Amino acid sequence: PMQPDIILEARSLGRDFNGFTAVDKVSLAVRKGDIHAIIGPNGAGKTTFFNLLTSFIKPSRGQVFLDGAEITGKSPAEIANLGMVRSFQISAVFGHLTVLQNVRIALQKRDGGAPNFWSANRLLERYNERALEILRLVRLDSAADRLAVEIAYGQKRALELATTIALEPRVILLDEPTQGMGHEDVEHIMALVKSFAAGRTVVMVEHNMKVVAGISDRITVLARGSELASGTYAEVSANEAVIEAYMGR
Ligand code: ADP
Repeated sequence: PMQPDIILEARSLGRDFNGFTAVDKVSLAVRKGDIHAIIGPNGAGKTTFFNLLTSFIKPSRGQVFLDGAEITGKSPAEIANLGMVRSFQISAVFGHLTVLQNVRIALQKRDGGAPNFWSANRLLERYNERALEILRLVRLDSAADRLAVEIAYGQKRALELATTIALEPRVILLDEPTQGMGHEDVEHIMALVKSFAAGRTVVMVEHNMKVVAGISDRITVLARGSELASGTYAEVSANEAVIEAYMGR
């Protein structure tokens, strides 16, 4: 039976592509409230494993559990309704809408159902207020009225995070949140993920070791489709097999 503080669990999860094993039998136990990073050299299977966790692709073997209930084979939308959302999954940013409208749409999506005629205006006001609050959190409020297509790359990533926050997930999966960002944006996203993670659980694939060392509670290292090590940054960075996998073959 699963420990009570484990919110997300993978059991012997694996995936083959035409006879090639991209992910072998990887098990993962993510503790409630943790920031859990998945790292590994290129080709290690991180993306495939992430896609398996969120049901973007089907496993060849193994199971996934959220809060102790099996979610293997459920659709990404069903899993999102259960409280686990992958950033950048639901809506890619709508470029022709403003930053504020993008967040508002995510808020409305979360609530589902169209408002009736009488409540529409008041509701819209409330959604806009809440959207602005979230934009303040990700420091995008000054860009609220700009078209999403016009904002800078780092701001776009922050907007994607904002739309994810709007969905109020208990578990959030981030695929390389700092990818392609400059130093200042990286610091900002780190602080943001940390503050967002309070009371929630974050699982992220991340290449930037400074980010991994700075904000992860636990780390799982993959190499060639298998789990090499799991533990704190201090533990995995001192692990011989991990060092070898990063240094060469
Ligand atoms: P990472 O994200 O760690 O770089 P990936 O999960 O993208 O690793 O890929 C792991 C291995 O699986 C790679 O060798 C890759 O070529 C292979 N792979 C990934 N997706 C597919 C696919 N759809 N078809 C065939 N091979 C794939």
